[in-house]
Amino acid sequence: MSERFTVLGAGIIGVCTALALQRDGHQVTIIDRNEPGTGCSFGNAGIIHTGGCIPMATPGILKRVPKMLLDPEGALVIRWRYLPRLLPWLFKMLAAARPTRVEEICRALAHLSLQARSAYLPLLSEAGASALLRPRGELYVYRTKEAFDAEAWSMQVRRGFGIPVEDLDANAIRDLKPALSPNYQFAHYQPQRLYGESV
Ligand SMILES: Cc1cc2nc3c(=O)[nH]c(=O)nc-3n(C[C@H](O)[C@H](O)[C@H](O)COP(=O)(O)OP(=O)(O)OC[C@H]3O[C@@H](n4cnc5c(N)ncnc54)[C@H](O)[C@@H]3O)c2cc1C
Repeated sequence: MSERFTVLGAGIIGVCTALALQRDGHQVTIIDRNEPGTGCSFGNAGIIHTGGCIPMATPGILKRVPKMLLDPEGALVIRWRYLPRLLPWLFKMLAAARPTRVEEICRALAHLSLQARSAYLPLLSEAGASALLRPRGELYVYRTKEAFDAEAWSMQVRRGFGIPVEDLDANAIRDLKPALSPNYQFAHYQPQRLYGESV
């Protein structure tokens, strides 16, 4: 039976939800206070994250924080004035980094992301946008064996979900990416990921 639905937000989530409802024969209205696709969905990296199943918070993250904060090129910057407001979120993030919780999160993410490719392709085809997709692998590169080994567990988790990951040495990296700096001696390569334009 056809019903009427209202979807709030015309980003990728709202639009995909609306399309799925429409496909099932329902009438859908999308409401957004801004132009469609101008929120977070506008400025992302455009990766269709097939096999992305590792959360940001992982066991041992607390130990890595001081080094990240001291590194001017590190991935983490904290505005200290903002810290009191940030603390509750940080505590939740630490709780989410417990090994048992990480396991649950990995499973949930894998369940979602392994379907991303097959779910997304028909949508792109219907929109005449298939040409925007570039099927490429994903290469994680490391300068040291230590850094390579530190990621071994996350690659093992991916493999456990059937996501192929190859270990590459310096020669194999150069074959794949000749222009990459020779500083990178080790890599993990995930051949199945799809790259496209952001929405
Ligand atoms: C730097 C960066 C890189 C990323 N790279 C990737 C990537 O490579 N691959 C990937 O899969 N994901 C990536 N992401 C994540 C991805 O972009 C988001 O998960 C996704 O865009 C979220 O979509 P959304 O529809 O939920 O949100 P949005 O695109 O932000 O849409 C939400 C919409 O809701 C509207 N809205 C909100 N509140 C109201 C209201 N009260 N009334 C009316 N309208 C409202 C907003 O105006 C907005 O248009 C990245 C994110 C960032 C920040």
